[in-house]
Amino acid sequence: MSVLVLADHDLGVLSPATARIVSAASTLGPVDLLVVADDAAAIAQSAASLSGVDKVLTLKGYLVADSLATQLSTLAVRYHYVVASAGSVGKDVVPRLAATLDLMPVTDVVKILGPTSFERPIYAGNAVQTVTDTQDKHLLTLRASAFRPAAGGNAAPIEALDGSVQAVARLLSSDRTESDTADLATAQIVVGGGIALGSAENFQLVENLAKKLGAAVGATRAAVDAGYAPNDWQVGQTGKIIAPDLYIAIGISGALQHLAGIQGAKKIVAINTDPEAPLVKLADIALIGDLFEIIPQLTAELDRLGVKR
Ligand SMILES: Cc1cc2nc3c(=O)[nH]c(=O)nc-3n(C[C@H](O)[C@H](O)[C@H](O)COP(=O)(O)OP(=O)(O)OC[C@H]3O[C@@H](n4cnc5c(N)ncnc54)[C@H](O)[C@@H]3O)c2cc1C
Repeated sequence: MSVLVLADHDLGVLSPATARIVSAASTLGPVDLLVVADDAAAIAQSAASLSGVDKVLTLKGYLVADSLATQLSTLAVRYHYVVASAGSVGKDVVPRLAATLDLMPVTDVVKILGPTSFERPIYAGNAVQTVTDTQDKHLLTLRASAFRPAAGGNAAPIEALDGSVQAVARLLSSDRTESDTADLATAQIVVGGGIALGSAENFQLVENLAKKLGAAVGATRAAVDAGYAPNDWQVGQTGKIIAPDLYIAIGISGALQHLAGIQGAKKIVAINTDPEAPLVKLADIALIGDLFEIIPQLTAELDRLGVKR
């Protein structure tokens, strides 16, 4: 069974999500990885090193959904699966491709059970649905954070495809949040803060702890709405879905909408004054007490132990 994976990249660098999508997709069959970029050379080199990749295909153009869906519909003829990450590009392209090919996509897959059987969360992550896809061709978006990344060390051949992606839409500019912390969607450790932090200044307690641990920073919607954290840090139903090895939740009650974003976390540590808070009950380890006392103690202890990732 042949698989075409659409690579995600940003600022000329292959996204870490792609390694995860490749590792998952390679369980379905040999993977051809498509890099669509104005200058694909460096991205294609990183893509070729991923284990599980049979061939890297490059196409000149931008990751803009309107024309990409048309290009993919031509390429899709050769493949049993077309797979993208459930990020902004995949969410835009795959439904268009599905409409073009008159197929039903299976989206937000978190587990591949077999060639035609997939698990995906529904009801904001409160239930998991098993979907059997009986179509001849399968269009999938996968949640990258649910899968382990593919190893490196491969040297797959790179083939430039003829033609280019002619988009009606044109990227004029992008405004970015500058951050030196890890990417939320793929981070191994996430430190999240809630409304209990009380101010943007106090939220730096969360950011400093995250920096020490080499972790990404997350926030509840309440903290984002209060202006303590930027909205691209929001975790949950209407924010990012995370699946770190460790989630440290500081002053977070554990509302259903927040829990919807952390179902994939392997270990949870909750710091909260309320022993009855839902997240405390769900946590593997709960530290009951005032975050303003616990966080400085925790940070000082990490310093004493020389822990820095
Ligand atoms: C349609 C919809 C979508 C939503 N989407 C999201 C989403 O994507 N993500 C999200 O997070 N929320 C979302 N929400 C909001 C959600 O319902 C909650 O309101 C929010 O998650 C609560 O945030 P919180 O835990 O910071 O605040 P609270 O629920 O107020 O909890 C604060 C916690 O801090 C503890 N605390 C207080 N002081 C201290 C202290 N000094 N030390 C330690 N602990 C302390 C308290 O005991 C409490 O448990 C959504 C809501 C709706 C209606």
